Amino acid sequence: MSHIETKCVQEGYKPENGQPRVLPIYQSTTYKYDSSSHVGDLFDLKVPGHMYTRISNPTTACVEEKIAALEGGVDAICTSSGQAASFMSVFNITGAGQNFVCSSAIYGGTVNLFNVTMKRMGIEVRFIVDGMSPGEIDALFDENTRLVFGETIANPALKVLDIEAYADLAHRHGVPLIVDNTFATPVLCRPFEYGADIVIHSTTKYMNGHASVVGGAVIDSGNFQWTDKYPELTTPDESYHGLVYTEQFGKKAYIEKARVQIMRDLGMTPAPISMFMLNEGLESLALRVDRHSQNALAVAEYLAGDKRVSWVNYPLLKGDTEYEKAKKYLKRGASGVVSFGVKGGRAAAMKFMDSLRLANIVVHVADARTCVLHPASTTHRQLTDEQLAAGGISPDLVRMSIGIENVEDIIADIDQALRRAEEAQCL
Ligand SMILES: *Cc1c(COP(=O)(O)O)cnc(C)c1O
Repeated sequence: MSHIETKCVQEGYKPENGQPRVLPIYQSTTYKYDSSSHVGDLFDLKVPGHMYTRISNPTTACVEEKIAALEGGVDAICTSSGQAASFMSVFNITGAGQNFVCSSAIYGGTVNLFNVTMKRMGIEVRFIVDGMSPGEIDALFDENTRLVFGETIANPALKVLDIEAYADLAHRHGVPLIVDNTFATPVLCRPFEYGADIVIHSTTKYMNGHASVVGGAVIDSGNFQWTDKYPELTTPDESYHGLVYTEQFGKKAYIEKARVQIMRDLGMTPAPISMFMLNEGLESLALRVDRHSQNALAVAEYLAGDKRVSWVNYPLLKGDTEYEKAKKYLKRGASGVVSFGVKGGRAAAMKFMDSLRLANIVVHVADARTCVLHPASTTHRQLTDEQLAAGGISPDLVRMSIGIENVEDIIADIDQALRRAEEAQCL
């Protein structure tokens, strides 16, 4: 099973003789045991098995196994949202008084989580901003720095992370690199192949693919060597009567700690039926992401040649600032998200969006239907102008998530909406 298309369909649930062919939904909070001593062994983690659905569930476990296989990791845990996954991935190894280093080209919701909410927990995020010298970047690290965080294709600025450079930076400072791989998906890029240690996802986007279920995932490559610098993994956990995660779980220590400690205590648990729907989405992930990427490149090329459009960002568009990195990290495609400016600024962008017929205005990206959003007035409106600029977002930026419809219909819709914006003398 070496190809990603096959893994999408076949990994995870593998029925035995006479069992249902399709992943069953184990909509049960609890599990039945023959003896109380078995329950004791389960709680001591001496035998594998499920105790309680807040911590693990058989339906969820199959999806976790599939996602780990897709990324080429050793273990994964699913969460109730992408935000929960981002939080868990950092909080699992970072506490009050500690800090982490982060690319500034990341999702706006992650900026709020890191810069506001986690700050209130005493955890400090230190952003790498454009134009910093290598010396200035090194100076962000100190003995309390726990990790480096970045996003493969940043939402919505569409900046491509130089994963190898970020992995080198993290490893030189003895910390792991965590990458949010939501937009690329493991079909387009597997960050572990370039040295990333941990990957997270908002499965709400392409993985589910149909805009029906919010969810997230954290995956570990198993490659980072947890040393005494991370005592929460290498010394006894008093909340788990002296368990040492690296001794008990080896390469799976990071994810299993996240499960039996963070998930146990915070309960950001996905519902089994949500996992069933995610699994159905994953089966067609490779097919869909290829079509999204082909359509988006065609749309980006069309927009780049249209005089009513002031600029276009798409990583695989020739001449894009991200083109060289995209050629390296996104060989197969650059996903369905295109951003551009309509001549005439904010007013023209609004008229254009209001005139679209096939493409709907929604607060979402990365599902089968083409949709459109104005980040500066919606998803990113909490950010200051400086934060917007640091994330690569201008006031006229329109973000289009190109779906899997026929691309001629998508382009015809864009063309008529641009014409209406032009007729309204917005541009
Ligand atoms: C949407 C998104 C998130 C947050 O995920 P939710 O599932 O909405 O909580 C995190 N990172 C990226 C890149 C996203 O696009």
